[in-house]
Amino acid sequence: MPSKSPTEEMPKGEKLYEGKAKVLFRGEDAGTIVQYFKDDATAFNAQKKGTITGKGIINNKVTELVMINLARIGIPTHFIKRLNDREQLVREVEIVPLEVIVRNVVAGTMAKRLGIEEGRRLARPIIEFSLKDDDLGDPLIAEEHVLSLELADDEELSEIFDMTHQINDFLRGFFASVGIELIDFKLEYGRLYDEDEMGYCLILADEFSPDNCRLWDIETGKKLDKDRFRRDLGGEVEAYEEVARRLGIAL
Ligand code: 5GP
Repeated sequence: MPSKSPTEEMPKGEKLYEGKAKVLFRGEDAGTIVQYFKDDATAFNAQKKGTITGKGIINNKVTELVMINLARIGIPTHFIKRLNDREQLVREVEIVPLEVIVRNVVAGTMAKRLGIEEGRRLARPIIEFSLKDDDLGDPLIAEEHVLSLELADDEELSEIFDMTHQINDFLRGFFASVGIELIDFKLEYGRLYDEDEMGYCLILADEFSPDNCRLWDIETGKKLDKDRFRRDLGGEVEAYEEVARRLGIAL
């Protein structure tokens, strides 16, 4: 029998969810999910729609590389293995309904909200939270909202802060080593039942790719992320390819 080409898709189970950039299918083994990365691009809560050719392949591979490296420094993640060009197998988790945003440099909504020019380096990184709710446009919330609305408990929140700082420290160096400044990014965490602990533990979920972070060339300041699409700067395919090339990812 001919072997599967790396671009051929695996037979998948039931479709569980279709998001803006990914589709989730039930995996063959219990407790697993197949994440399929699309080329579809949206911005401003899906008011702007388009396609970035090859984006799904790059995001799948960048996410794989980042998740593997984070696991090496002791961050538990949902990533199991990459299946092919556009799919990866991950653990099924209950997603914590928070977008955890990390900022090293002022950009995007922070620049707009506070009237600060983009590019100002922060004295220390900021971790902020948005409620994961597309209908409301993922509104910014305070730590007090997280606890009072029981979106996460005290222990989880403190783990989220610890893991997120570690992830940021590591990834700033990881990208700096290829001439890229990590400006800001978004993470999502999930709860996984741990038989040994007889309780839930938090693990990193979702993806890490130029779709959910800002990456600027250290020398020139050129934007190498989804802002090229959001802001109609052009050259988004080339920017994603440049990130992959610098990270040594074969396409
Ligand atoms: P901002 O709040 O400035 O729009 O975004 C801060 C960072 O988080 C950026 O790197 C942005 O890509 C990421 N981010 C914020 N919200 C979302 C979201 O809903 N989806 C994705 N993919 N990334 C987001």
